[in-house]
Amino acid sequence: ILRAMSRSLTKSHEFQLRAERLLPGGVDSPVRAFRAVGGAPPFLVRAKGAYLWDADGNRYLDYFGSWGPMILGHAYPPVVEAIQKAAANGASFGASTPAEGELAEMVVSAFPSIEKLRFVSSGTEATMSAIRVARAFTGRKYIVKFEGCYHGHSDGLLVKAGSGVATFGIPGSAGVPDEIVHFTLALPYNDLDAVEAAFRAHPDEIACVILEPVVGNMGCVAPVPGYLERLRAITSVAGAVLIFDEVMTGFRVALGGAQALYGIEPDLTTLGKIIGGGLPCGAFGGRAEIMDLLAPLGPVYQAGTLSGNPLAMAAGIATVSELSARAREIYPELERVSAAVASGVAAEAEAAGISVITNRVGSMFTWFFTKDPVTDWESASASDTALFGRFHRAMLEAGVWLPPSQFEAMFLGTAHGDAEVEATIAAAKVAFAEDRRK
Ligand code: PMP
Repeated sequence: ILRAMSRSLTKSHEFQLRAERLLPGGVDSPVRAFRAVGGAPPFLVRAKGAYLWDADGNRYLDYFGSWGPMILGHAYPPVVEAIQKAAANGASFGASTPAEGELAEMVVSAFPSIEKLRFVSSGTEATMSAIRVARAFTGRKYIVKFEGCYHGHSDGLLVKAGSGVATFGIPGSAGVPDEIVHFTLALPYNDLDAVEAAFRAHPDEIACVILEPVVGNMGCVAPVPGYLERLRAITSVAGAVLIFDEVMTGFRVALGGAQALYGIEPDLTTLGKIIGGGLPCGAFGGRAEIMDLLAPLGPVYQAGTLSGNPLAMAAGIATVSELSARAREIYPELERVSAAVASGVAAEAEAAGISVITNRVGSMFTWFFTKDPVTDWESASASDTALFGRFHRAMLEAGVWLPPSQFEAMFLGTAHGDAEVEATIAAAKVAFAEDRRK
């Protein structure tokens, strides 16, 4: 089903040149520039189901789903209709609408740990606001995050791990003052000793621990058995707020996210991506006694002109109601199709003599080109990124769009079926064989 393409990217090149004159790097978000994998980024103009089309008419099988939101496939008719209907009634009011309560009820019924929530317009806002309310609740300043986890681009979260355990943060971005990241402790993922040491070093000073309960942002990395349980216990004893950043995993690894999959209740949860059905949307929520600190009830300020936007709510309601109604059918099928493509491609790599580690939780997965298990940033960063770049370019040439970095998770959706799996494995086989010949 993947037509052999001799791709022309003439129009994409023209759009890139035009964009580069005004947009730094020609993009509004850095990875879109394809710098990590090389090659020119196609400019997309249309998508339907599991496929994307660029400005030159080339078609691609999509394995990133807009970085997660498009679990029902692109331009899914009930979602399109919901957005159109909402748009016809006015794009934004800046006042309360019935849709916000409706989506809130759906979120709460999928996530029992969430008693109250607030909608925002991005995952970045969700995590930034969750941390603010956690600090207000505890009256503490320090936060713990993990190396390789991404929680958006707010100042205090752009921190790589220091070299030692519980060392102070190092800015992960120019323009972030040391004074701000001073309060961010970046620790290795899946390492409980590091967390215990941080709490010993900062008794009664750590406001919260924030993590991706299944990591997508260093490639897919699952929590080791017992990790989430211990984090829950350590934070409870220390009086710190446990925040699960489920912007990627919410409604993805299970309807109720990673917390349902692993049976752990965090104090706060952040959501994004799927809850907006492809429109700008995020949310943070959790225990009512924490959330009630938000203005207008409490002293924590947080606001947004477009928060709870009617179009985003409509797309979110259409998406989440479909996932909820058909969860028993959708999630096992996502599991089956994802397992087939993840193991099928890995088998082709191995047959070509290429070392590969496949990490997968449901429909989030990554092929790391490395020999040893990947459980944290250190082991992930041992991957052969040059080989990943060649694989990415070969797959794109064959009409398969992988996320343009080794350190990103792949996503698929309900529009991916057996035909797509077969075509992907066949394309990978050719890509690996050619790579060995070079
Ligand atoms: N948290 C996680 C786990 C994410 O994956 C992302 C985005 N990839 C964010 C937060 C930030 O979300 P946004 O890009 O919508 O600001």
